[in-house]
Amino acid sequence: MTRVSRRRLLGTGALTAAGAVVSASAAPSAAARTAPATADVVIVGAGLSGLTAARDLVAAGRSVIVLEARDRPGGRVYGLPLGDGTTTEGGAEFIGPTQDRITALTRDMGVETFKTYNTGKNVYYRNGTRSLYETDGILGAVPPDWGVIDLQIALFKLGDMIKDVPVGEPWKAPKAEEWDAQTFYTWSRSNSLSSGARFLMDAFASSTLSMRSQEVSLLYLLHYAAAAGNESTPGTIDRLINTKDGAQESRFAGGPEQVPIRLAASLGDIVRYNAPVRSIVTGSGGVTVNADGITVSAERVVVAMSPAIAGRIDYSPALPASRAQLTQRYPMGSIAKFIGVYDTPFWRADGLTGQSIADSGAIDATFDNSPPDGSRGILMGFMNQANIRKLDGAPESEVRAAGLDSFRKLFGDKAAAPRATAIQRWDNETWSGGGPTGIAPPGALTAFGPALRAPCGPIHWAGTETSDYWTGYMDGAVRSGERVAKEVHAAL
Ligand SMILES: Cc1cc2nc3c(=O)[nH]c(=O)nc-3n(C[C@H](O)[C@H](O)[C@H](O)COP(=O)(O)OP(=O)(O)OC[C@H]3O[C@@H](n4cnc5c(N)ncnc54)[C@H](O)[C@@H]3O)c2cc1C
Repeated sequence: MTRVSRRRLLGTGALTAAGAVVSASAAPSAAARTAPATADVVIVGAGLSGLTAARDLVAAGRSVIVLEARDRPGGRVYGLPLGDGTTTEGGAEFIGPTQDRITALTRDMGVETFKTYNTGKNVYYRNGTRSLYETDGILGAVPPDWGVIDLQIALFKLGDMIKDVPVGEPWKAPKAEEWDAQTFYTWSRSNSLSSGARFLMDAFASSTLSMRSQEVSLLYLLHYAAAAGNESTPGTIDRLINTKDGAQESRFAGGPEQVPIRLAASLGDIVRYNAPVRSIVTGSGGVTVNADGITVSAERVVVAMSPAIAGRIDYSPALPASRAQLTQRYPMGSIAKFIGVYDTPFWRADGLTGQSIADSGAIDATFDNSPPDGSRGILMGFMNQANIRKLDGAPESEVRAAGLDSFRKLFGDKAAAPRATAIQRWDNETWSGGGPTGIAPPGALTAFGPALRAPCGPIHWAGTETSDYWTGYMDGAVRSGERVAKEVHAAL
């Protein structure tokens, strides 16, 4: 393969404020946007994974151009406008212990975090009955349903199985074939008797993956929990589901989108917006990446997004079947967030955290999204999996009515009368296709798992789905960007 000469790039390049060397033809004038540009590496996607990879490659002295389809950075990290000039978390929201890489990046970007409001009782709505429960007992965030002993036995078994799943390579687990041959649903039905335990296991799959337990490989779910830790702290289900000491422990002052926004700004004009990549052509001289308004030639390309969305790009020559077929078998979850804005977080005065779990209605879990000083109340409801699918195609007014009906059942009449509402429907987002993450149905990991990360010639893969620890989370996205930057730097 003829390599793009780095000396030639340096000879014609201009040093940006961020220290990135870009070729003269990559300067961001209107005329240049349509001209071919060159760089050592093209990164497709300015989500956390792509931006982290860009940061590290620039720091290593590589020239980089980032092509982003949207008009903003952050991808699944998004500040949802509330109509009054403020925003709330429309996508990713929480950060917790052992999420070391997003923690470090957040600190580097000068963004503060604060504890999720977690004082008082949670609401549990099941079989038409509303009850309240404490979350500081041994059950943590698990509501005390009738099936709780049954559930604890099942969780104990799951905890044992999780220990046998190698983080980052679940297909190498000794029982990988057996566990990948069944869904979490079939396992939970064979390992519990009570409807309460079964409902709570379904709720676990729904609240963490926004998928029905019928759709998720048992092996995938075990790995998701094994990955909820770091190199020195094994992952656990508790860390996934808990607020205190768990993945929902803290939020970001000013919103998590401040992290990608500041990171993208620090990279300067090497990040190009409104540039959806349509095709990637591999030739003897490297790769040619064709986006709307810009074509970039480079030695290597990093595709930094979920496998399902990466599968929409046209690759020439065609990708190896293992990778191409992986992208057909890694669907995104179905999810929306429904927001109510109130003068005060009135549920706090009622002794409630604002957190809930429900078995019916359009919303199956809620959180208190109010600002850190509690100067107004913001209630966030997850419309997960089947709930949002039922509302697919429904007008906004219908989704709003369904959301408010759920809020009323969970938090009373005041909750049904917000001064403003907002809705973020991820399934309708062209450049995300759902959320929070791509998941593996039965059979996918054992047959195609290694293709998640394995480069295809000069094409490398990033995105939270490729991460070992905290796959599915912002931390996983950052880890994947750091991993791919090392991989590409070594290959150049
Ligand atoms: C509702 C919701 C709640 C969540 N809650 C949390 C949470 O509380 N905590 C947490 O840690 N994580 C959470 N997540 C998950 C988190 O948002 C993701 O794990 C993370 O942001 C993924 O980053 P990424 O870079 O891998 O992918 P993305 O953010 O998807 O970035 C991919 C980028 O590629 C762009 N793109 C796609 N196709 C093209 C193309 N053809 N050409 C150019 N650009 C393209 C996209 O526009 C996007 O900007 C949540 C996600 C959602 C949706």
